Amino acid sequence: MSQTDTPRERRDHGPELPEVKMHLHPPADPGVGVVVENKRCTARKSASFVRHVAIDVSKTSLAGNFRAGQSFGVIPPGQDERGRPHKLRLYSIASPSKGEDGQGHVLATTVKRTIDEHWETGKLFLGVASNYLADLQPGDEIRVTGPSGKRFLTPAHPEDHDYIFFATGTGIAPFRGMIHDLLDAGAQSRVTLVMGAAYATDLLYHADLLRLEQEHENFTYLTAISRETQGDGHDPLYVQDRLRTHQDHFLPQLETDRALIYVCGIAGMELGIFQQLARLLPPSRLDRFLRCDSKALSQVEHWERRMIHKEVAPTRRVFLEVY
Ligand SMILES: Cc1cc2nc3c(=O)[nH]c(=O)nc-3n(C[C@H](O)[C@H](O)[C@H](O)COP(=O)(O)OP(=O)(O)OC[C@H]3O[C@@H](n4cnc5c(N)ncnc54)[C@H](O)[C@@H]3O)c2cc1C
Repeated sequence: MSQTDTPRERRDHGPELPEVKMHLHPPADPGVGVVVENKRCTARKSASFVRHVAIDVSKTSLAGNFRAGQSFGVIPPGQDERGRPHKLRLYSIASPSKGEDGQGHVLATTVKRTIDEHWETGKLFLGVASNYLADLQPGDEIRVTGPSGKRFLTPAHPEDHDYIFFATGTGIAPFRGMIHDLLDAGAQSRVTLVMGAAYATDLLYHADLLRLEQEHENFTYLTAISRETQGDGHDPLYVQDRLRTHQDHFLPQLETDRALIYVCGIAGMELGIFQQLARLLPPSRLDRFLRCDSKALSQVEHWERRMIHKEVAPTRRVFLEVY
């Protein structure tokens, strides 16, 4: 172990992750939860419709057996156009590991209604599971599976690390849970959330996050609005641009072995973040987060998403969940 490594890890291996339960309810044997809350996640009218749906899972094996960062499955009722039962869709658990109720009996997710127009016919298409979930009312039953996921987690020894979370859209869901886990435990780690949205009205859980920032000195909440000027006067920004506008905040953290980077949201968002890291960090620092050879490094402006995991490989200090 090198002198700069945190006590419980070796440089190449990343942090030790906790053991988690998996697949207690497989698709063939779903549990039945009961919806206890369904409310909008945006403060004002927004172009996207995102809801916070809380489900009592106390009568299922999920009770007390999920962790922030994991997902659960939802099996919508009915059949697809081929007459087969609908397949499950995964949703991130947005609750802290102790659940919404503090007992692990109620979990929540952050669901965005999928609304689309069929490319050729122009007919309206409503996503099956997201609209089913978003329409449920308190008292309604819902078939759930899981939990699933054993890698997108905060470490077994959270106080050994600082955390940089990048979210777009419903990518906030797992971070809502993780941030509560970290702050509620009183860990003194630095925790930063960069939340991206097209318009300020699309920001999710915004008032709650502002309040958390007021209450916890070690929590920083930054927003990046991509289609309008920021509240602080900056031009439109993507999440990765906050690494540049707040270099004084990020660079000291990224220069230590404590920093972990988490990315969740729209598939493709990781590319911009990786490029920005490569622009800002010298190769000796960058290699904590990304493995890329000097040829790739010399062409940062031309990186493409297909290079990720090949020429540009995130290390185990980088946690990715994009969909
Ligand atoms: C690990 C993981 C975690 C996730 N977490 C979340 C989360 O926290 N919140 C969240 O909102 N989502 C999350 N998702 C995404 C979620 O699983 C679903 O994919 C999403 O909600 C869309 O599902 P749906 O059933 O509403 O849409 P579907 O019915 O599955 O449709 C999906 C897309 O298929 C196309 N399509 C399918 N059929 C037709 C048709 N007949 N005509 C036209 N177009 C069609 C449409 O473009 C549509 O956008 C997560 C995914 C993963 C993998």
